[in-house]
Amino acid sequence: MKPLQELVRPNIWALTPYSCARDEFKGMKADVFIDANENPYNNTVNRYPDPLQEKLKQAISPMKQVPVENIFLGNGSDEAIDLPFRIFCRPGKDNVVAIDPTYGMYEVCADINDVEYRKVSLSETYDLNPDEILAACNSNTKIIFICSPNNPTGNAFQREKIEKIISSFQGIVIVDEAYSDFSDQRPFRFDILKYPNLIVLATFSKAWAAAGIRLGMAFASTELIGLFNRVKYPYNVNVLTQQKALEILGNATLLQRNIIQILEEREALMKSLSLLPICNKVYPTDANFVLVQVTDADAIYQYLVHKGIIVRNRNRVHLCGNCLRITVGTKDENTKLLSALRQYTK
Ligand code: PMP
Repeated sequence: MKPLQELVRPNIWALTPYSCARDEFKGMKADVFIDANENPYNNTVNRYPDPLQEKLKQAISPMKQVPVENIFLGNGSDEAIDLPFRIFCRPGKDNVVAIDPTYGMYEVCADINDVEYRKVSLSETYDLNPDEILAACNSNTKIIFICSPNNPTGNAFQREKIEKIISSFQGIVIVDEAYSDFSDQRPFRFDILKYPNLIVLATFSKAWAAAGIRLGMAFASTELIGLFNRVKYPYNVNVLTQQKALEILGNATLLQRNIIQILEEREALMKSLSLLPICNKVYPTDANFVLVQVTDADAIYQYLVHKGIIVRNRNRVHLCGNCLRITVGTKDENTKLLSALRQYTK
């Protein structure tokens, strides 16, 4: 890895971050808080949230087996995707490299930040080639994005291939593990201390059944987490989200039961889909969704919309011609989908 100072944008390296009122007295005991221009009348949300979400991180740490100081929490993992652009990429100069197809927000964030986005095609079987990815980089490549399990294809990539990219690349590698709770593969968050250039993303939006609270996580070296904390909005995770997340973390058994149920439903759904005459291919998946190639994705998508069933039409996505991406729903939802598809006539 290049020295961190070489990778970080000079203005960010030199930045004096905003100092919250509460940062300044940290560690002292007090019971009168008249430092932050808050309303003193307690309605449970009259105070600013903890800017570094210590209590929540302490609850996440044993669950994810990552030390508190290696955790960043943000407003969805979308915040943790955008921040590295703002930390590392000089607009109009630097570039990032990503696999294609993959999660759309990497490219949107690149466009918003005026950063060149270089796509490296997956193979026809949706596999990645580390050498091709490394060959797409130049001296201005700051970040490589690898989403595994990948959205929209569903597959997780071989660990050795991702490791080759992390250990060969001189810049930052972001491994987005939004769907790793549905996969058998060992998560990369256990490797953040081994690889100083690795950032691993995770989210409360999938397995944790909490997309509505907007809580994403990034795991990385303390140096990288320090940079995230300098650049983020001071109070980026609100009080209600922090409270709800603590409540959710207190019910890990429910979460495990949920995941098992989704995996069982995934199996059954894939089997039933593969038997449908309109279905050409059900791609293997390590996520809570399945990519399916059908005879006519546009027509079938519209047909399902009219039946009140919304799937994701990926027909226009690279390598996904005639593909629909279907999230594993409840037994009832999956049954409705299958029965509608059985009734479909061209
Ligand atoms: N990463 C991937 C791969 C995703 O598919 C998604 C959401 N679809 C996200 C991140 C965003 O997650 P969040 O809700 O935490 O912003």
